[in-house]
Amino acid sequence: MERRLRVGDLLRCPHCRGWHPVVKWHSEGTACTLRMLYFDCRGKRYYAGQEDLESRHQTKAASFGDGPTANTAT
Ligand SMILES: [Zn+2]
Repeated sequence: MERRLRVGDLLRCPHCRGWHPVVKWHSEGTACTLRMLYFDCRGKRYYAGQEDLESRHQTKAASFGDGPTANTAT
């Protein structure tokens, strides 16, 4: 089962095999656009997926800044 994508998650980068934080890029736009999340690799920005939906990339919760909703279902 995949976990849902959230801002601040770490995403397994298909380009460098490292982990990058997922960020929200758009500050305005349609509801659909506002849910689009991205990650940066080597100065380029790539689409990560839609917030609260499964990402096609592997993701995990960041080890820092955990919140009360942190789900540790491994
Ligand atoms: Zn990368």
